[in-house]
Amino acid sequence: MSRPIVCIVGRPNVGKSTLFNKFAGRRIAITEDTPGVTRDRIYAEAEWLGQYFTIIDTGGLEPENEDIVMSNIRKQADIAIDTADVILFVVDGIDGLTTTDREIGDLLRRSGKNVVLAANKIDTRKTPDEIYEFYELGLGEPMIISSEQSLGLGDLLDELVKYFPEEKDTEANEDTIRVAFIGRPNAGKSSLINHILGEERVIVTDIPGTTRDSIDSHFTVGENDYVFVDTAGLRRKRYISEKVERYSVVRTLTAIDRSDICVVIIDGTMGPTEQDTKIAGYAHDNGKAIILAVNKWDIVDKNDKTYLKFEKDLRETFGFLNYAPILFISAKTGQRVDKLLETINMVNNNYNMRISTGVFNDILNQAVLINQPPSDKGKRAKIYYGTQVSVRPPRFVIFVNSKDLMHFSYVRYLENQIRNHFGFMGTPIKFELREKGE
Ligand code: GDP
Ligand code: GDP
Repeated sequence: MSRPIVCIVGRPNVGKSTLFNKFAGRRIAITEDTPGVTRDRIYAEAEWLGQYFTIIDTGGLEPENEDIVMSNIRKQADIAIDTADVILFVVDGIDGLTTTDREIGDLLRRSGKNVVLAANKIDTRKTPDEIYEFYELGLGEPMIISSEQSLGLGDLLDELVKYFPEEKDTEANEDTIRVAFIGRPNAGKSSLINHILGEERVIVTDIPGTTRDSIDSHFTVGENDYVFVDTAGLRRKRYISEKVERYSVVRTLTAIDRSDICVVIIDGTMGPTEQDTKIAGYAHDNGKAIILAVNKWDIVDKNDKTYLKFEKDLRETFGFLNYAPILFISAKTGQRVDKLLETINMVNNNYNMRISTGVFNDILNQAVLINQPPSDKGKRAKIYYGTQVSVRPPRFVIFVNSKDLMHFSYVRYLENQIRNHFGFMGTPIKFELREKGE
């Protein structure tokens, strides 16, 4: 599922971060200790009337030092223009229109993007005369809000939601395999994408229409349709600022959200970095299928044991990803790039795999016979039965007598038993325990 993206833009001190915090739901920790990020949260999931979306506070991307304001704001506006489905442009309703506001307004208007203008800090019900100045921006009527007092926020959200793309636009085809290539700058993502798309048997299709589509690469190999998510910048390398880690983090997170399978590209000459593990962790937590690809294998100094050692290191570094296949590739020579596509297909099948309730319960029963569920103070955990409730990723509900008695290590044991039978290579599996009657 791909969530719509709202970016908040505006000069410093207009109340962007206050507004962001009102909208933001679940905390997304990945941005916390990202270098250069000045606020602890710039990226969050939000919800309004059952519509889920991602909200990004572009003001958190750079320190908002008055001297460098305009160049920073220009970068922030660029990111918003490039990433957002709708841009929320915040101005200070008490200060009135400033030169910086005009410059931002120009950038946004010229981009042709959907923009919602909000005049903040109007804490009283009376609308000040300064409001009328904002019509000059040519962005329509400003929404009147107070972030601090939570005034007008419902109407503002209603307005934003109007610009969200229709579900059918983003999920064009259920059978399409949506892949994101993630990894640090220079790992070889562009080279790999260009290598795959440049192959003769790959039929690249340009699907005109939504803005979202134009940033993705659509193509077909044989009977399979693929989308490589958010590759426009990578294909053309127009994104110089992509080289700057903090921007690539935001792009990467949105690409992960919009994909089913994440291929983590690790630079084989450097080994995995902390950023790689964080990003892979985010993909894992969000239930995405994952493949680890070690690139630049052509120039890695190696003997016949190098890959074993590398594999061992990766298994240690990515301990939580014991299900992810590891491949050693070269985007430059094309070594095992075919194999990568095969692996993507295989992982996609696993991500969509359904196990019948009968077979699943046979395995549960067998697992229980081999290794009894834990007990506490004379009371033993009991498994009644289980069933798979969904795919992408596979999710199982297991009915038990007491959730408290089912230690997580036992659930892990059950997962291993299921993986022993079905593999589920490349995909996380989710378990939910329920007590009878729940
Ligand atoms: P940012 O730099 O745009 O992210 O702005 P902040 O969210 O950090 O807010 C800047 C200042 O404006 C802070 O002191 C906030 O408390 C204040 N502020 C934000 N929203 C409102 C509002 O709706 N009304 C009033 N009176 N002050 C606000
Ligand atoms: P990106 O920033 O992740 O998109 O990385 P690029 O695709 O731009 O690659 C960064 C640099 O690594 C470029 O100079 C590429 O030519 C080089 N490169 C990428 N993949 C390989 C590879 O498999 N082998 C070698 N030797 N160089 C590579």
